[in-house]
Amino acid sequence: MTGSSYVGRFAPSPSGPLHLGSLLAAVASFLDARANEGLWLVRIEDIDPPREPAGAADEILTQLHHFGLTWDGEVLYQSQRLDAYAAALMILANEGLCFRCECTRSALREQGTVYSGHCRIHGLSARDLQYADKHPDSSDAAVRLRVGSDTYSLHDRVQGAYAQTLNTDVGDFVVRRKDGLIAYQLAVVVDDAFQGITDIVRGIDLLDSTPRQLYLQDRLGYNAPRYAHLPVIVDAAGDKLSKQSFAPALELRRSNQQLYQCLTLLGLSPPKNLVTGGVEAILAWGIEHWDIQAVPKLATLIAPSSV
Ligand code: GLU
Ligand code: ZN
Repeated sequence: MTGSSYVGRFAPSPSGPLHLGSLLAAVASFLDARANEGLWLVRIEDIDPPREPAGAADEILTQLHHFGLTWDGEVLYQSQRLDAYAAALMILANEGLCFRCECTRSALREQGTVYSGHCRIHGLSARDLQYADKHPDSSDAAVRLRVGSDTYSLHDRVQGAYAQTLNTDVGDFVVRRKDGLIAYQLAVVVDDAFQGITDIVRGIDLLDSTPRQLYLQDRLGYNAPRYAHLPVIVDAAGDKLSKQSFAPALELRRSNQQLYQCLTLLGLSPPKNLVTGGVEAILAWGIEHWDIQAVPKLATLIAPSSV
């Protein structure tokens, strides 16, 4: 343990091995934690079994290890935390915020991107939820959380000010899916609080989930962590890279180059000869020179051949 109260984390979903995009999130959260003399935890977000190929979680841990990204403590698996999510859902139901949503896919499509509140009349008490848990056949409806007209805003350490008004920008959102699985939004908030996370550094794709997470933290009586969402990655022509083009596989043979590439995407200017130094040396340089202010909102991915 260090004197710092910083606790960071990397929380991959084991839907496959890490790729360059997810490595960037791992490296950025690692460097920010280490530069702040904090702890860096790893949590495997394995709550969606249909999307998790066997062995993916172990492969991710092996990759982290190979890239020199050494975590503190034990890995937390969300698949072991289902009771905690059920307890949180009970709290929300007791606050009168949950309802059963039986909307079909096509009904939801007709409502547009913001849920209309259509099923709010099917209020769900904590007792109803308990009953449904004991009689799984009776619960083939999603559970949604009612939102109000509050605006939730944050000062993101990279992206700056960001805000959403929940009822008009997001709508009532799913906390337990129709198939009974707990939604990411709820699980992530419960575990960030459980692990005492003070700082979240993650991909920009999750920025628009953050106001929902702030709302859940409020409802559940948790402190809000600080957030930093990583840059949008563009190609040399300035076009946003698709998920596909930003998802080249990690190559253990080229771990130096790929790690070096992450540092440059994060706004650092490592010396050219560092690329031959080995992953520990590259990370040590990154920790020493880390500056979250230098992380750009927009980063250009240079073709790996030029590194
Ligand atoms: N498990 C999520 C993902 O892999 C990330 C969760 C988070 O960082 O909040 O996309
Ligand atoms: Zn509905």
